Amino acid sequence: MTSLTQNLCLCNSKLSYADCCEQLHAGSAQATTPEQLMRSRYVAYALKNAEYVYQTYAKEKQPENPIKEIADFANSCRFSNLDVMAAEHNDQTGVVEFCVSYFYQNLYCQLHEKSRFVKEDGLWRYLDGDIFPTTDIKVGRNDECPCGSGKKYKKCHVSF
Ligand SMILES: [Zn+2]
Ligand SMILES: [Zn+2]
Repeated sequence: MTSLTQNLCLCNSKLSYADCCEQLHAGSAQATTPEQLMRSRYVAYALKNAEYVYQTYAKEKQPENPIKEIADFANSCRFSNLDVMAAEHNDQTGVVEFCVSYFYQNLYCQLHEKSRFVKEDGLWRYLDGDIFPTTDIKVGRNDECPCGSGKKYKKCHVSF
């Protein structure tokens, strides 16, 4: 068995998971920027840690994002990549623009969002975001996998 903590962090930081988002997931460190929080939320989705995603919503947004819905979404997707395109913040608010690639059934999908973050009790929290329109791509079993691995879809991110 390989330990997850020795693997590169799924947020694309080039650090090991142990030196990156795991510390935020475990609560032994707190995100110091909105970008860091956003990255850790992406990795939590990919690892199906719905509790962390829920806890890092701003309090006012938690009731409309129940843990079960977060878990259902995370469990129905195979996450493939995160690109952070822009990030800025001041003392109390921040904005991060990113693109997440994931597979849903046999569709290759992208979530391109400009997210807003706020500080609550000294901690960065996700408030909401504007979503840019994207087009889902249907993937055939013998197509090259759109994740960029160079493998055929049926040997890579296929769902069945
Ligand atoms: Zn990370
Ligand atoms: Zn793939």
